[in-house]
Amino acid sequence: MIHSDQKTTDFGFKTVAVEDKVNEVRAVFDRVASKYDLMNDFMSGGVHRLWKREMVGRMDLKPGFKILDVAGGTGDVSFLIHKKLKPITAPDQITVCDINKEMLQVGKARALDRGLTHGLQWVCGNAEALPFPDRSFDRYTIAFGLRNVTHKAKAIAEAYRVLKPGGQFLCLEFSQPTDEFLKVCYDTYSFHVIPKMGKIIANDEESYDYLVESIRQFPTQEKLKSMVEDAQFSQTGYQNLLGGIAALHWGWRL
Ligand code: SAM
Repeated sequence: MIHSDQKTTDFGFKTVAVEDKVNEVRAVFDRVASKYDLMNDFMSGGVHRLWKREMVGRMDLKPGFKILDVAGGTGDVSFLIHKKLKPITAPDQITVCDINKEMLQVGKARALDRGLTHGLQWVCGNAEALPFPDRSFDRYTIAFGLRNVTHKAKAIAEAYRVLKPGGQFLCLEFSQPTDEFLKVCYDTYSFHVIPKMGKIIANDEESYDYLVESIRQFPTQEKLKSMVEDAQFSQTGYQNLLGGIAALHWGWRL
């Protein structure tokens, strides 16, 4: 959320100058990159994998489609798309775009380990100013990325710009639990357990404080849906996952 004076914004529960947030976020992912995948599995008990499958399951993928996975990090979502999008017809059919070179490096190494040498390209870029021409992709995904972006409306407008007519926008992000009891349990777990796990596994409590806090600052399901509509997307909607701990939002460029 950009604060009303337009000069400051949230960075977790801290307030920073708008122009500094992108570097603060970059520094977090520089620090966590090498332990990112391990921590994800520990923190979520592997559930993040099911949510990513749900997202990719919702995409109808046709041969020849060009896909953009923004804030794609270490490649989880792109790997699932690669598996589903057989046959791969072009070396740049799936583009993983992320602002953080360290995360992309880990992703590239993981792709090589899996023998995925064709069909994936790795591009360093900002979701708010994507380095791609208008109307160049059939599908746009962003998983657990939008909450890190300073100007979220700008990033959604960029998604609209780079999608072709008929293109689909999909956003997977942590959200607001709908049940009060679940919310209390989830808050206890995330504020007290996750930063400690970060300390033990990644030797970095502070970055995981940020991750937990940034989730609380993220727009509610309804608010995000209206932001997707404001960016001109049609047939928007969302699905809560695990009682709203995460939510999958979508919209179509007609
Ligand atoms: N999508 C991957 C996944 O689900 O495993 C990675 C998610 S990770 C929590 C968030 C990613 O967003 C990081 O790789 C970070 O570098 C990236 N990111 C943060 N701000 C960004 C921006 N403005 N533009 C592009 N990527 C950004």
